[in-house]
Amino acid sequence: MSEPSVPGGRGAVLDLPCGETKRVRELDLGKREFDCPCGDSHAVVMDVHPPDRFLPEFLVEILQETIETTSDDMPEFGTAHLMGIVLEEFPEAVVSEDVSEDGELGAGIVWVTDFDSRRLHEIIVELVVELMEHAVSHADDDEVVSEFESKMLQFDVSEFVDQYRAQRDLDPEPYM
Ligand SMILES: [Zn+2]
Repeated sequence: MSEPSVPGGRGAVLDLPCGETKRVRELDLGKREFDCPCGDSHAVVMDVHPPDRFLPEFLVEILQETIETTSDDMPEFGTAHLMGIVLEEFPEAVVSEDVSEDGELGAGIVWVTDFDSRRLHEIIVELVVELMEHAVSHADDDEVVSEFESKMLQFDVSEFVDQYRAQRDLDPEPYM
């Protein structure tokens, strides 16, 4: 017995970049990635995940201070903006769904990427570093510039992601 493909009231179904499908209700807030029938793992991100799933707090703070956001729905720089940047850079590799009407999930937007969670993490950090280098180069505040430059001098993306994920794995918080 096969299920109807778009059954009413059972939540949205995502068409993944790999060609498979995923019912959003099979995802939950604690999920970072899932194993797909295509053989790969795909990262899952929800707008309610805090941006420190990917970035240390000092970076989130600098971003919130330096990046102007124009949307009333998302006044502060957060996870939705991070995924917007990824989507802009890799439009073919990200699918998203507005699930705000679906009370089952407790999230507003769900993204699934062709990348696994670790690769997505690296991509986000790389894109944010680029974004910040650009933003900081236009900043008038010398203190912000020098603080950023001193922190970036010792910053290695791959090493950071490894350490950050290992550290967060010890944390009882599920988001990663
Ligand atoms: Zn897949």
